[in-house]
Amino acid sequence: MKIAVVGTGYVGLVTGVSLSEIGHNVTCIDIDLAKVNKMKKGVSPIYEPGLSELMLSNIEQKRLFFTTDHKEAFKDTEVIYIAVGTPENANGSANLKYVEQVAIDIASNVYRDTVVVTKSTVPVGTNHNIQRIIEKNLINKVKVDVISNPEFLKEGSAIYDSFNGDRIVIGSENDEAADKLEEINKPFGVPVYRTDIKSAEMIKYASNAFLATKISFINEISNICELLGANVEEVAIGMGLDQRIGNQFLKAGIGYGGSCFPKDTKALIQIAGNVDYDFQLLKGVVNVNRKQQKILLNKLEERIPSLKGKKIAILGLAFKPNTDDMREAASIVISKELIKSGARVIAYDPISMENAKSILDEKVEYASSIEDAIAESDATLILTEWDEIKHIDLDLFKSMEYPLIIDGRNCFDINKMKNSGIEYHSVGRPSVVSTNEKAYV
Ligand code: NAD
Repeated sequence: MKIAVVGTGYVGLVTGVSLSEIGHNVTCIDIDLAKVNKMKKGVSPIYEPGLSELMLSNIEQKRLFFTTDHKEAFKDTEVIYIAVGTPENANGSANLKYVEQVAIDIASNVYRDTVVVTKSTVPVGTNHNIQRIIEKNLINKVKVDVISNPEFLKEGSAIYDSFNGDRIVIGSENDEAADKLEEINKPFGVPVYRTDIKSAEMIKYASNAFLATKISFINEISNICELLGANVEEVAIGMGLDQRIGNQFLKAGIGYGGSCFPKDTKALIQIAGNVDYDFQLLKGVVNVNRKQQKILLNKLEERIPSLKGKKIAILGLAFKPNTDDMREAASIVISKELIKSGARVIAYDPISMENAKSILDEKVEYASSIEDAIAESDATLILTEWDEIKHIDLDLFKSMEYPLIIDGRNCFDINKMKNSGIEYHSVGRPSVVSTNEKAYV
């Protein structure tokens, strides 16, 4: 089938590449000319495992194309996916200006009956509004059906998720259009759940809000474990054995980040507020997360009360491993606070340093390896559990006067750390204290 995908970010590009891989003829459109030129040459503008290889192979097989021209992309296209951003407004609501612009672009450029599939995460009622905008602005007498098809991929495993997702949700009020979308997706072999448009829109927000709730819940438990001397990892394993709870998303740490959970939780609070519903539980989840991002700083300041002039290494900058996405990463808040306290910050991340340079304070310095980052540091903070960081050679710390690690992702086994000679603090687990008399406090 001939398909157009509007927006080539993490969702649009992965969607376009995956649809071409299962045999469709796909044109991806973006307004960012530099990005499109890069993709035309087969270079992916984002890091996502497996993406570059599939992208190149489908370009070579002439099933995948890129353009900035909506007219060219929509020519003879039966189905158009909307995958542009829906970032956060200052009040937490979803900013729909990109989605609404695409609706106008579609209305001005379609010459045949078309199914429009919304992948972007949009508040309940938005797809009906997209339908209205398109119908109001149509320049040709054609029929357009708008369908909700929220995206559930996880950055870091997005390609894998496209082919192995738990479900594809199709929200539609038109069976023929929904049948078409189901047919397009058949080769993925992922179970399809069909529902009405508003419920589909809500499934996306409710799913992200629930996952964020699990994270804030286990983080609260981890803080209580620390005060009582229990170990949150043991607690999570014991809880997860109950099938009603499940063992996923029970990893304590420094909170959730990224381009989805922070904005989608706040947007759902707004969506509820618009119909005079006070979503108290979710407000708590958001507040807990805000607090949790800073717990490493509290732990550090307890050990080194004055950070002025101290060299602090940060290992891991991306909001999670296997992505270069820095949006809402804990490293943004933490590095800013450290710089404010007068510390010297040396950061290392295997993939996201280029993106980080345009986002973090300009005083942050960047190291080309873990070894360079931690050399002569007064403390090392771990913010992202990349494999490279989890498998770090702990002997690297041995030459230091007083090795101190504060780990926001519980990367190391506590028992192993006991014999390492390193003072080690993690999240929700007993600390490993050192007998080294050079201890700071
Ligand atoms: P992104 O910011 O990475 O990419 C959006 C792209 O759209 C940009 O390249 C931008 O240039 C382009 N764009 C904007 N207006 C355009 C227009 N009029 N025509 C063509 N291109 C245009 O966004 P993303 O992270 O891929 O997210 C897209 C949507 O999917 C959001 O609603 C998001 O909430 C949702 N989502 C994201 C994820 C994720 O993990 N990133 C997962 C599920 C759902």
